[in-house]
Amino acid sequence: MSDIGAQLDRLRDAGLYRRTRLISGPQGPRVLIDGTPVLLLCSNNYLGFADHPRVREAAADAAMRWGVGAGASRLVSGTMTIHERLEQRLAEFERTESCVLFGSGYLANVGVLSALGAGDQTIFSDALNHASIIDGCRLARAETFVYEHCNLDHLEWALRERGREGDVIVTDSIFSMDGDIAPLAGIVELARRHGARVVVDEAHATGALGPGGRGAIAEAGLDGQVDVVVGTLSKSLGSYGGYVCASREIVELLLNSARALIFSTALPPPAAAGALAALELLIEQPLRPAKLQATAALLRSELAAAGIAAPRGRTQIVPLIVGDADAAMRLSEAALARGVFAQAIRPPTVPAGSSRLRLTVIASHTASELTGAVSALSAAAREVGVTFTAEDPVPAEPVARAA
Ligand SMILES: *Cc1c(COP(=O)(O)O)cnc(C)c1O
Repeated sequence: MSDIGAQLDRLRDAGLYRRTRLISGPQGPRVLIDGTPVLLLCSNNYLGFADHPRVREAAADAAMRWGVGAGASRLVSGTMTIHERLEQRLAEFERTESCVLFGSGYLANVGVLSALGAGDQTIFSDALNHASIIDGCRLARAETFVYEHCNLDHLEWALRERGREGDVIVTDSIFSMDGDIAPLAGIVELARRHGARVVVDEAHATGALGPGGRGAIAEAGLDGQVDVVVGTLSKSLGSYGGYVCASREIVELLLNSARALIFSTALPPPAAAGALAALELLIEQPLRPAKLQATAALLRSELAAAGIAAPRGRTQIVPLIVGDADAAMRLSEAALARGVFAQAIRPPTVPAGSSRLRLTVIASHTASELTGAVSALSAAAREVGVTFTAEDPVPAEPVARAA
């Protein structure tokens, strides 16, 4: 057998084999899988903007006015009026001096970390940061120090041991697979004391937390105190693309040295226009994020009432931790057979032994939909003999790793 076949077999044996699932029709609170409608509990389209009429129309209009592709990278001939308009609006929204779009949130993290970590400094990174942050650290010339998840004492110890001016501390604000929130005020305070810059990835917090959905930074009262805000247009904003909000100087540095920006084509005009329309909707309807949080609270209380243990938290991301990868897969299949689509999340997305169903709500999910989903999940768990643990997720090994 080929080495590739053997590699795939090893993944199958370990319960880590992955495949895609086909959704027909648009994204929404319910979707069609194989022609059958199911409740969607694993989408990041939190505010339902992906198929909102105004967002669709804006994207369609943009395709008619400006075409489908940007034709070149931003620094050659790909910068178009719609990019600049969206960047201005995002900078206002995040209350920063400047903003630059990236092809995706993944590319934004890779670009920022390789550009800010281009020297002989250290990047201090939370153990449960998103894969795009990990890959950014790998591409940076700087060394990476992984601190224990949300552990300010460990971060402070590391900064005292090896911190110096120009270092970078990077964290998700809402952690993507756990739904907990980084101690941003403490991180900003430590950074100030040690002369480090702070990069905060608001991918899951934009549209979900803070006044008007302005994110975890705004909620913590830290506007203007975070050096770099990374965001995505692909989650609450329902479109596709990434962005970085920062000082004019940092944005200039990114335009001049972030290879993920320089060597990749500018965002398609319809994606930018769709995101801009969604941002305008979010600004006009600042209560949508509160509705999302109320929906999340409802799911959490329904789970508790059904005796399903979940780690404590308050965001729209609710992990049901199973442990074993194969058991998580079987649970996901059994739930799907009962009309609930909740994808199993396994290593390397989460640490070994902490495979889970990562439930996410959409603001428009109704109480009866959630009640039904929780009884389907209970029945599925009984059927496959799975129990849940409310233990805090297994912390990834904190290691100092050379770049
Ligand atoms: C999804 C995600 C990204 C990547 O964003 P895309 O726009 O989907 O590439 C980056 N960071 C975090 C924390 C995420 O959850």
